[in-house]
Amino acid sequence: MALRFSTLARQDLLSRLRSEDFDLLVIGGGITGAGIALDASSRGLRVAVVEKGDFASGTSSKSTKLIHGGLRYLKQLEFGLVKEVGSERAIVHALAPWLVIPEKMLLPLSEGKSFGYWMTSIGLMIYDWLAGVQKTDRRRMLTRARTLRQEPLLIDNDIKGGALYSEYRTDDARLTIEIMKAAFHYGAVSVNYLQVTDFHYDNGSVSGVNAKDLFTEEPILIRSKVIVNAAGPWVDELRDIDKSKKRKRLHLTKGVHIVVPRQKLPVRQAIYFDVGDGRMIFAIPRGRTTYIGTTDTNYDGDKNNVAITAGDVEYLLGAVNNTFQNTRLSISDVESAWAGLRPLIHEEGKSASELSRKDEIFESPSGLISIAGGKLTGYRKMAERVVDLVIKKYFDNRQLKTCETFRIKLANHSFLSFRDVRKYFRQIYIRSRSAGFGEITARYLVENYGHQASQILDYYDEDIALPADKELVLLRSELKFAVNQEMTMTLSDFFARRTGLLYFDIHKVMKWKNEIAADMANLLGWTDSIKRDELARLDGLLYEATHFA
Ligand code: FAD
Repeated sequence: MALRFSTLARQDLLSRLRSEDFDLLVIGGGITGAGIALDASSRGLRVAVVEKGDFASGTSSKSTKLIHGGLRYLKQLEFGLVKEVGSERAIVHALAPWLVIPEKMLLPLSEGKSFGYWMTSIGLMIYDWLAGVQKTDRRRMLTRARTLRQEPLLIDNDIKGGALYSEYRTDDARLTIEIMKAAFHYGAVSVNYLQVTDFHYDNGSVSGVNAKDLFTEEPILIRSKVIVNAAGPWVDELRDIDKSKKRKRLHLTKGVHIVVPRQKLPVRQAIYFDVGDGRMIFAIPRGRTTYIGTTDTNYDGDKNNVAITAGDVEYLLGAVNNTFQNTRLSISDVESAWAGLRPLIHEEGKSASELSRKDEIFESPSGLISIAGGKLTGYRKMAERVVDLVIKKYFDNRQLKTCETFRIKLANHSFLSFRDVRKYFRQIYIRSRSAGFGEITARYLVENYGHQASQILDYYDEDIALPADKELVLLRSELKFAVNQEMTMTLSDFFARRTGLLYFDIHKVMKWKNEIAADMANLLGWTDSIKRDELARLDGLLYEATHFA
């Protein structure tokens, strides 16, 4: 039977971590760590990954969920960054076309705001050119009338014109988990809820880590020739432990997003608009909701518990209310929210929004390699740079492949183009409609799981005869998949990162959390007290996503 990235395999994976000597150990199971694990394992290195929470539980589930070139960085003259991440968009789309979805972005233009009409026209032309965007997808400048037809919700007395340009939307946590699954299929041993507490050294060179299993408190020593610190906002904590936090350091900034019902802000498409204070924010439709973000403020609080303040929420609501007609959103309209930390590199005298999003690699005297900065979009190139460095320095005498992640299709999919994804969507729509579900559910299944949606519907067909609400049966089918193939350990792993329901359909979580907890207890052998603790933790998350101090 094919190896599975299953919750039930965790003990076997832990034994392997204890007993094997690895070539490369990655600390951190966000997009950066997952990317490095896939790159290194597909080149032939023996790879381990340890993650102190769930995969993607750090910044990689808290982003704006765009695979984008970053138009803003053009204004900051970061041509290299725009060229690299811009070009990556089409590659990452081909690697996971159901999950990295083309989306036209509307940029309304008004007098005296961040972007003037002609500067935008030239800027977007450069943006498309740097990224090698195909002719049919290049930017289109719009007249005032055309802009207002494109988005009738815009307050019209301000608008001078607009632009439509190509970006991609995604789900950051799903992208991370699919990359982690692909790395696993190349032999990477990845375990979540395993926290690195200390390093192990031989003659001053780092040669392993001491880690703690956060479920059992058991310590574990993992040996590896090379160790990469891809701990995102926690990178400096590990550099501190290694006594190598010298010169450059991280500068964390907080970004908040809020989610409102789609009918409260029924924008027709993704839109990137001026707040009026020199900043720009996105409003992005997703399923039955629209999400709005982001803020960008300096942060030096608790990294494990990033609170959303009423001020954060009001800033975003104010921006929306000032931009769209007949929109009087208030805090009571906010269904859910999330806050994430950007692990940026500190630059003296620069404000949060001015800091570069470029990644950097630090090498310590002990040999610890740390990577910080960067973007979700650039994960593959960041990984390539790290693995190139590792191979050059430590494995030069071995026959290892060059980077080939540009052609490793995630979930081993066979979609040849986005048209195939659309065709597949129609099949899933017909199949789920006959089960009584609507288009939103079919779209959710395909955009979350790609061709694996069929497997979830197979589970559904097996269980539909049982006396239960069909919505719950579908959720249970997703849970089976999440446990058997996606290393789902907790209720929040399932509701926040495997399904995204905590953010985009929070009422479903509230409605079915007890039933899903009972199912997880059965599948994973939880005692009543574990189940109670799990539900209490989930209630804590539900509270944080809906209450703003
Ligand atoms: P993380 O995802 O934080 O992963 C690091 C992991 O290390 C964490 O999961 C953590 O638990 C683990 N860890 C830490 N310490 C230990 C330890 N001791 N032992 C074991 N594990 C440990 N980029 C884009 O391209 N597009 C966007 O739309 C976008 N929007 C953004 C919006 C916001 C608000 C923010 C904050 C960022 C956004 N970004 C975006 C940037 C992008 O999200 C980040 O660059 C990226 O997710 C960082 O990933 P990472 O793996 O480096 O960090």
